[in-house]
Amino acid sequence: MTPHTKKSYKAKCPHCKNIIEFHSVHFNLENDNGEIISNCDSCSETFKIVTENPDESYIVYGAHKESIVDYDINSASNFPKVEGLLSFDGNLNVQKMIFDPKAKPIYLCHDCGKSLEEIAFHKLDSAFSEVIIAYNSYTTVDIKGYGYNPEKAIFLLNIKCTCNKLHSAVFYKKYDHNGFDISDFNLGNIIGSKPLDSIIDGTMSKDDCMGLLKKALVRWELLFDKVLIITPFVGHQYLSDEKLIDTWFSILSQISTDKAKLITRTASLNKVKKAISENIHNYSELEEYHLSVTHIDEATKLQPSHAKIYCGFSHKYCEILHGSANIVYGPSKEQITFKSYDSYEELYDKFLHQLEAKGLDAEEYPNNYGKTSNVIFNESMNFKAEKILNEDFSKLLI
Ligand SMILES: [Zn+2]
Ligand SMILES: [Zn+2]
Repeated sequence: MTPHTKKSYKAKCPHCKNIIEFHSVHFNLENDNGEIISNCDSCSETFKIVTENPDESYIVYGAHKESIVDYDINSASNFPKVEGLLSFDGNLNVQKMIFDPKAKPIYLCHDCGKSLEEIAFHKLDSAFSEVIIAYNSYTTVDIKGYGYNPEKAIFLLNIKCTCNKLHSAVFYKKYDHNGFDISDFNLGNIIGSKPLDSIIDGTMSKDDCMGLLKKALVRWELLFDKVLIITPFVGHQYLSDEKLIDTWFSILSQISTDKAKLITRTASLNKVKKAISENIHNYSELEEYHLSVTHIDEATKLQPSHAKIYCGFSHKYCEILHGSANIVYGPSKEQITFKSYDSYEELYDKFLHQLEAKGLDAEEYPNNYGKTSNVIFNESMNFKAEKILNEDFSKLLI
């Protein structure tokens, strides 16, 4: 393929203001100029997008390419141009989830109490060529239509503590047919490590509370059907805008839009929108162009409450972190405790229904995620692909 770069744009249909996204392709050597004659998906009217390389440039959504005009051959058409063109790089919603094995550990050896996290990541590194082979050979089967339609790819790797005790590290990534690298894998659990209620329990710095929460969120993204982040405040009133935005995204990067829900006070949401408007881009314009932050836009209002509850749950098993820690970093001390429950109903009765938050009811959760399929590769079984349902995670992976 000829070396090229592409630029992403959002714009509006000149007839009905429907939002269009298109990518303009730029070649390193020679470029054509012209226009894409487009048909709006919303009002069916025609307009033009003036761009480099109209043949190779493409519309992502909002309209369809009807034809192109190459200005070397033909003159410009009389169709109206798209309006309100906005160039954008990156996406506030696409952030990489991070499990930092150097931060305060949650997975410790049952026998000697040492952290197993760095050992697990070293193992992933040394076994990665086998991981690639297993993943790709499953993908060959999946593409032919004989796969399990998996949501996640899960790898169980055997690890040995410095004290010689054996454990099994659970790494995962979202399953798809795209390319991947080692940083796409996250640590979902270490089977046989010390129970989390003996690790996450006590008084510690805000920084440590956030570190533990960030690791728990990576775990919950794999193990549970739903994740809730319930906190009245994010940051504190003396934080700079830059630090406030960093604080928000350090947590938003750890949750996915399909599983997690944020429940916080309206004032906290307004504060971050204002900070984004003043430092990144006008937030209402981002909203208008579908570039705003999904979790912020879909957050549920928290009525007057000081409860800080972070939980991951499926119908038959739930984990929760609770205590005094808001989403905020710093050296001062907070209290945080881990607990688990054997049913969503118990978690709901004890912690959630009192909050009277919209969308938090026993009817909405639990749900049908339990039958979702995943593909699992166990090193002890020579990485042979097997199917595992979400509802079996609590028996097999915890
Ligand atoms: Zn239109
Ligand atoms: Zn050990």
